[in-house]
Amino acid sequence: ERTTLNERGHVDTQCPFCSVQCKIRITPQIPDAGTRRPAYVVEGIPNAASEGRLCVKGMNAHQHLMSPERLLHPLVRKDGQLVRASWEEALGMISDNFLAVRQRHGADAIGLYGGGSLTNESAYLLGKFARVALGTKYIDYNGRFCMSAAASAGNKTFGVDRGLTCRLSDIPLARCIILAGTNIAECQPTLMPYFTRAKENGAFIIVIDPRETATAAIADLHLQLKPGTDAALANGMLKVLLDEKLTDPGFIAGRTRGFAALEEHISAIDLEDVAKLTGLAKEDIHKAAVAYGKAATGIIFTARGVEQQTDGHVAVRNFLNMVLATGKIGKPGCGYGAVTGQGNGQGGREHGQKSDQLPGYRSIDNEEDRKHVAAVWGIDPAELPGKGVSAYEMMELVHREEIRSLLVMGSNPVVSNPNADLVEEGLAKVEFLAVADMFLSETARMADVVLPVTAYLENDGTLTNLEGRVLLRESRLAPPGETRHDWEILGELAAMLGKGRYFPFESAEAIFNELREASRGGLADYYGITYDRLRKEGGVYWPCPSTDSGVPSGMMFERSFAHADGRAVFFPVPSRLPQETPDGDYPLTLTNGRLLSHYLTGVQTRRSPSLAARNVDNYIELHPRTAKKYKIEDGEWVEIRSRRGSFQVKSRITDKIREDTLFVPMHWGDAQNVNKATSPELDPNCKMPGFKTSTVSIVPLRLA
Ligand code: SF4
Repeated sequence: ERTTLNERGHVDTQCPFCSVQCKIRITPQIPDAGTRRPAYVVEGIPNAASEGRLCVKGMNAHQHLMSPERLLHPLVRKDGQLVRASWEEALGMISDNFLAVRQRHGADAIGLYGGGSLTNESAYLLGKFARVALGTKYIDYNGRFCMSAAASAGNKTFGVDRGLTCRLSDIPLARCIILAGTNIAECQPTLMPYFTRAKENGAFIIVIDPRETATAAIADLHLQLKPGTDAALANGMLKVLLDEKLTDPGFIAGRTRGFAALEEHISAIDLEDVAKLTGLAKEDIHKAAVAYGKAATGIIFTARGVEQQTDGHVAVRNFLNMVLATGKIGKPGCGYGAVTGQGNGQGGREHGQKSDQLPGYRSIDNEEDRKHVAAVWGIDPAELPGKGVSAYEMMELVHREEIRSLLVMGSNPVVSNPNADLVEEGLAKVEFLAVADMFLSETARMADVVLPVTAYLENDGTLTNLEGRVLLRESRLAPPGETRHDWEILGELAAMLGKGRYFPFESAEAIFNELREASRGGLADYYGITYDRLRKEGGVYWPCPSTDSGVPSGMMFERSFAHADGRAVFFPVPSRLPQETPDGDYPLTLTNGRLLSHYLTGVQTRRSPSLAARNVDNYIELHPRTAKKYKIEDGEWVEIRSRRGSFQVKSRITDKIREDTLFVPMHWGDAQNVNKATSPELDPNCKMPGFKTSTVSIVPLRLA
């Protein structure tokens, strides 16, 4: 029997819509036809991250659960139509196909595609399912588009990647804050008071963004640079720090290596060149660097604006070089933060969904790591497949018909990948596509089998927020209709594939307990974290190697870094511009990003009436002079064209954007999907696509 929200007094849960993981209480109201009283009162409850605040997404996070479009039973394709089916039939079709494809073409003809909104337990199990139940090396997830540049940069520089190296509570202690390519006011709004508190305490805030965003409104200095030039800017700032002797020689000598080579590399940089390349005034670059260098404490944040570039890895490393050169890490009010976007963007990348990683951030290439995980899983290490490819590269393999069967869980790759037309073409011709989702997303619409899954209020699991704090989210409602948990689906499929003995789990907690063992001794060590502990303590930072050790402080790198010698590594990496630069045919640079009212590809938020009403159609921001040049009126439909494809959106003319830049939100599919035009060129270091640097043209639809 379904327990609905209305049958409960109130429910306490966590908002699923971003990496802050604010706690919410939802209380149904007694219906009263005579008033316009809302059916639910939604309040924030203080937790360590949000201090009781909620943004508009959290206030409406209950709506999509009750959407009439919610999938409540499995669907299978018959005579071209998706029709209702039993679980037995739907899962039988998937396992039959997997077995047949594996027999005909080998295990690597099957691909798995996960998501950064899955709980740690589901993400962990998806990785295990790929490697143990199927034996395929092809697994990756949408977090590749989210964090991969910052993750690879953090790994190389510090030896481990954790979103924030400090805690949110350190923000008000920072005397200089650099927000590079992160629009926190729209993407993680409940964090803004941390920054305003820092400002009240005297912090100098620098925002680096081609757009004058809501976040830029709190900046003391806004560096409105050309898209794709962040790496050069960071090196320019480092040059100033070196020239002005604003470095920390003691920290450099005692805690790092590689500085001499970096110094040599940076000394060749001319600030005039940096100013020209970035489109900024030399004086502003100087001012920003001096403000950061002179401040006693400071934190640098980056997000997708810096990371979603073809040299995003290098750009983040250059910012990390600044952190190390000034010794601003491992102490209160200091550090670096990659501001994760997805609900479980941090945890989702730690436990084996990524093609090159095993649980606990273990490497799939490392013999010892393979042995440890194989022992926990009860298999021979030789049975563990090797490294696969990144999310977009998997889509290319689908298009080339090398991957013939694909299971997508908690993701909408048709909308979220760059070069969306190629992805759609690939999925249209793939031999078999199964999708597990709450809704008939743009990807699910194309599937042969669609599996209805439970939502955040209906399943148990842990999520790791942007600080690296593990939080338990327990189910509050019974699953509606015939929906099942992601992990239940994987367990049942494994049994049908003859591998059920490796998936004996009866609860999310049982999976978590295995994850703890698999991560034990790894970089992201969860061994000391238990459900009981999470219930008592509310949230626990990793690394947490022991159940009886004290509460982890959350501050990373106080005494040493995670490299074998305990030192952080400077690395001089020349920046490289994207292959595609503006030209006569495609004269403008397109960037994309998030809106306050939407989450990811909008599958859930476009089905939340209050959120959907805020932005019915997608749009493009362009500068008044750009609009004049291309004869575009405010509010009219325009077509954006690139070498990949085109999409149509409404124009919004604003002087808050650079003249050479266009901005389009990323939450719409079909004809309004910005990714029909984005570039699939990948960063060679982390395989992040260059979402932020595609070159395009724009025409009013009336003239198209
Ligand atoms: Fe909090 Fe993020 Fe949800 Fe907004 S979207 S309520 S900031 S968790």
